[in-house]
Amino acid sequence: AIELTNVSKSYQSGEVHVQAVKNVTTTIPESKIVTILGPSGSGKSTLLNLVGGIEPHDEGSIQVNDVTLEKLKRKGVTEYRRQNIGFIFQQYNLISTLTVEENVEVGRYLSQNPLDMKDVLEKVRMWDKKDKFPYQLSGGEQQRVAIARALVKNPNILLCDEPTGALDEHTGKNILSLLKFVNDTYHTTVCIITHNQGIGDMAHKVIRMASGEIVEEHWNDELIDPEQVTWA
Ligand code: ATP
Ligand code: MG
Repeated sequence: AIELTNVSKSYQSGEVHVQAVKNVTTTIPESKIVTILGPSGSGKSTLLNLVGGIEPHDEGSIQVNDVTLEKLKRKGVTEYRRQNIGFIFQQYNLISTLTVEENVEVGRYLSQNPLDMKDVLEKVRMWDKKDKFPYQLSGGEQQRVAIARALVKNPNILLCDEPTGALDEHTGKNILSLLKFVNDTYHTTVCIITHNQGIGDMAHKVIRMASGEIVEEHWNDELIDPEQVTWA
């Protein structure tokens, strides 16, 4: 599990001091789907970046299984990311000069125990387009490639920052179904940031943030199928 204890992070931008994450204590349970909801600027991305080891926290402790993030040196954090974390972003962040297969290959290089390329591309239904370039693909297809790139590493934890933010309802639900499938199949911990309240209903646990703090958390006894979530 991922345990955060009294975690804080602030930014200094010019004269202004912004406390992006304030004294957050929570658990992201292993092999579950967790959503983080909250308005723009509430600290969702910052929190995910702290967990993913993209940025260091200022105070508190982040414990991921047997690793304590603040105890690691920079190289250790890189190694932690490499071994544990897959990232998915709203804007896909594919490499434009590489084909689908080559983009996913980038993910494979990063892993000691990668999954089979063809297998993963088939799972995201992109094997038939493996020789296409990103500009030849729709948004949903590009996001499926980005998921394949994150997934082929066989990460324990998949961190998704508004993975459906740039997609229409049909395509977005398709991506959510794929994330649910990944959770079911590989028991990957899947953490999804979203503005979309309805997406909370497909998660085991929902964390709601406002002004850098967690203001509400709950567990769902019954999960709604991603296809059935209310889209907003
Ligand atoms: P959104 O839904 O718009 O993506 P968010 O909940 O992800 O918002 P964050 O990106 O975590 O919010 O930002 C939290 C606060 O920290 C905001 O006030 C933001 O302006 C500030 N912030 C984030 N990153 C930086 C940075 N690199 N430098 C300065 N301030 C930052
Ligand atoms: Mg954000």
